[in-house]
Amino acid sequence: MTLLTPQHGDIPKPHPTLVSRPYWDGLRRGELLFQRCGACNGITHTPAIVCAHCNGRVLSWERSSGHGTIYSWSTVWRPQTPAFTVPYTAIIVALDEGWHMLSNLVGCEHDEAEVGLRVEVVFHPIDGEITLPYFQIIR
Ligand SMILES: [Zn+2]
Repeated sequence: MTLLTPQHGDIPKPHPTLVSRPYWDGLRRGELLFQRCGACNGITHTPAIVCAHCNGRVLSWERSSGHGTIYSWSTVWRPQTPAFTVPYTAIIVALDEGWHMLSNLVGCEHDEAEVGLRVEVVFHPIDGEITLPYFQIIR
């Protein structure tokens, strides 16, 4: 059994762009944001300049509850680079608002991941600019 923990600051970091900056700023404030389309009401994630459903250009930011269920998962024992501490469990979370995102599961043993488990977002700053969204099991 191995406790899953957030990665530390040596991992490759995301580079916020003009489009994704509000998402990363939200994470730093402890808010998980997604975009909703003003034309079709569809949700777009990852951050984009057009709607993933209708190519509409009027996207607004909304705050997620941060709650969802594990849609899929995989525990990684051989990382892409040695910067990552293993094992880590990559998960696809189905957020309650009806969108999906890729993240990691933390705060539990590596063999606890299960499709359908209820999870909630937790925020982990890795430096002064970047905070990563991880998920933990709701107990
Ligand atoms: Zn749309």
